[in-house]
Amino acid sequence: MDTLKDKVVVITGAGQGLGAAICKTLSEAGAITILTDIQVKGLEQTEKSILASGYTAKSYVMDVSNEESVRHVIEQVIQQFGKLDVVINNAGVDYTKAVDELSLDEWDRVMSVNLRGPFLVSKTVFPYLKENKSGHIVNIVSTASKRAWANASPYHASKWGLLGLSHALHVEGRQENIKVTAVIAGGMKTPFLLDRFPDIDTNLLQDPKNVADTVKYVLLQPDETVIPEVMVLPMTETSWP
Ligand code: ADP
Repeated sequence: MDTLKDKVVVITGAGQGLGAAICKTLSEAGAITILTDIQVKGLEQTEKSILASGYTAKSYVMDVSNEESVRHVIEQVIQQFGKLDVVINNAGVDYTKAVDELSLDEWDRVMSVNLRGPFLVSKTVFPYLKENKSGHIVNIVSTASKRAWANASPYHASKWGLLGLSHALHVEGRQENIKVTAVIAGGMKTPFLLDRFPDIDTNLLQDPKNVADTVKYVLLQPDETVIPEVMVLPMTETSWP
């Protein structure tokens, strides 16, 4: 893709944090951003700030874990904008609990949003991208897909799974000229960590804008360049084994 100008880009979890930062960065690069989330207030805020800067954006309430919701929104986008070029699977949730404290419902919710969601969205857009023989799916993964820490078992399982799903779809997509890339992000200054760990040392975290810039970089690679996964780490994590 040599430019993002007028590319139709669907972003999940766009109501805050990294999702909102990606929308802003890609809008500034000329994309038409389609903001989706389950939280209406955040969606409205992101949409308002993008429109106020003079860019094109539209928001839809979409639950990535619900097949009907995903199908309905993707169909509406293609109908309204006449095409769909890029999907960023960014929505994510977590619980900070030891394995024996987690309920089955909590486990299922994390897997539903973080893993089933990207599967459902990819499954829904794949026939359309196949028909056009073009498109790019970017999955926001995490360093939680490469190592493990305590009290985040479903998060790790979902992100290791999402990395695997990304590579599997990368292989399937290549035959159809569809790119699939996993962007592996380190800890960021977003509500995801800041709300749960108010005392966290923010010097250890990265600006979500760095990750958003990496997403833009990945999308703007020439057609023949293929990047199955790319890692964006805060300085403090670069020394990790
Ligand atoms: P991050 O650090 O990845 O930005 P946040 O918690 O700040 O994490 O943002 C994650 C976003 O994902 C939130 O806006 C949240 O509302 C959204 N989200 C959570 N569950 C779903 C879901 N089922 N469908 C769509 N979006 C969701």
